[in-house]
Amino acid sequence: MLTWHIGDVRITRIVEIEIAAGARFILPDATREACRPMRWMMPHFATNEGDLVMSVHALIIESEGQRIVVDTCIGNDKQGRAIRSWNGLQTSFLKDFEGAGFARESIDTVLCTHLHIDHVGWNTMLVDGEWVPTFPNADYLMAQKEWDHWRAEEDDAHTQAILADSVAPIFNAGLARLVDTDHRITSEVRLQPTHGHTPGHVSVHICSRGQEAVITGDCLHHPCQIARPEWCSPADSDSAQARATRQSLIKDWYQGQTLVIGTHFAAPTSGRVKQLADGGYWLDIEQ
Ligand SMILES: [Zn+2]
Repeated sequence: MLTWHIGDVRITRIVEIEIAAGARFILPDATREACRPMRWMMPHFATNEGDLVMSVHALIIESEGQRIVVDTCIGNDKQGRAIRSWNGLQTSFLKDFEGAGFARESIDTVLCTHLHIDHVGWNTMLVDGEWVPTFPNADYLMAQKEWDHWRAEEDDAHTQAILADSVAPIFNAGLARLVDTDHRITSEVRLQPTHGHTPGHVSVHICSRGQEAVITGDCLHHPCQIARPEWCSPADSDSAQARATRQSLIKDWYQGQTLVIGTHFAAPTSGRVKQLADGGYWLDIEQ
């Protein structure tokens, strides 16, 4: 289990799945040939052959007595997913989550950076054939802009399946809270609009005692995009905007010495942006 301390804030990673299977369905430009020269990614973020290693995990932020879960992974028992191996998934995620000292009932806030399949799954769990909120005492925050977008996607069967089992039950239980894309959760933790991957996508900015960190969400999927911000995912809803967002964020993170904690970055999951002599960037895992 990985943890970080950013001033007074603690962040804990709970993994659902971590795989070294390549990620070309997420980043088609990230071929073995293109990735093999990026030696700084090995062995953590890529294999020696150039296959990307990726992770699906939740990050729990503890700030000012509040427990905030950022993104809730794929979830168990879900059906109708476009990625077949994610249907009927069974992992020990919830057991690991509680085993790390986080009782479900103790979570104050759940934040979905966006409403894709692998960020909303554990919003709910299956109990006696019904989807119920996994975190019954939490406010579930979603950007209003993000919700408006997905609510309009009524014709898409996969979207409908995700909303029906992972989002609608949150609204039905009265736990959903639609917020602005720069919403502040505590004095140390706020949302940051990072649109492009989806129309209302947000990252999470953490600042405490002069130390800064960011939880990316999917504004980038893999550290290779720090070196190649122009590499887009077919899942990016607006690739030009996604690319521009990445380019400006990477520059800001470099200038601010920000600790970058990636929502799909394999262990050690974080690093700081460094610049090469030719002006390009890379992610240095040394803290
Ligand atoms: Zn994702």
